[in-house]
Amino acid sequence: MKRMPREKKSMSLVCAYCNCDFLIREYVYRKRVKQGNKNFYCCTTCRVNGLRTDPVARFWSKVDKTAGDDGCWLWTAGKDRDGYGEFSGPNGSDWSAHRYSYFLHNGEIDKNLMVCHSCDNPSCVNPKHLSLNTGLYNQGDMSRKGRHGTRPAKPGHSNAKSKLLPEQAMEIYKRANGGESASKLAREYGVAHQTIGAIRDKKIWKVLWE
Ligand SMILES: [Zn+2]
Ligand SMILES: [Zn+2]
Repeated sequence: MKRMPREKKSMSLVCAYCNCDFLIREYVYRKRVKQGNKNFYCCTTCRVNGLRTDPVARFWSKVDKTAGDDGCWLWTAGKDRDGYGEFSGPNGSDWSAHRYSYFLHNGEIDKNLMVCHSCDNPSCVNPKHLSLNTGLYNQGDMSRKGRHGTRPAKPGHSNAKSKLLPEQAMEIYKRANGGESASKLAREYGVAHQTIGAIRDKKIWKVLWE
């Protein structure tokens, strides 16, 4: 019987922690991307270090996105009795995983409001399946639901009043510390360049970092 040839092709990637080049099997890479991985590390040590310094990457490393954009994104780490994912955020904060995902995509959440699933799957963290339970069913609620279904548009059109979302603040932090100029980032994200500097130096958005 003829054996199926096992794909052995490798590709080169840059480690998200130490920036070294390393090889990864193509099929492993494709599988991880399908699961939603954005950061790749050359070794276990870099992975541990990388995830420790970046809670957002650590969060997504525990999520399986195999079901695709509209499917349920499953929390693969610890869960509570009711099946809701549990995530240790920055500064020792404890989060429900779906609530943290909502926070990353929509910003600060009113402490009195619950984040609910439209898919009735407690371990799901797909922001498209999450909405705030305001306790009110009105037109405003409907329009908010529509908005929550999409990822925030990449800001770029200059709008001095545009508010940053946590994921954007994290991107700015990485890019500014990676050497991109504050004024360029300020234009791109539609915020003051002082804001970029403050994010770069961890003076604001402290909730994102340990
Ligand atoms: Zn490395
Ligand atoms: Zn879901």
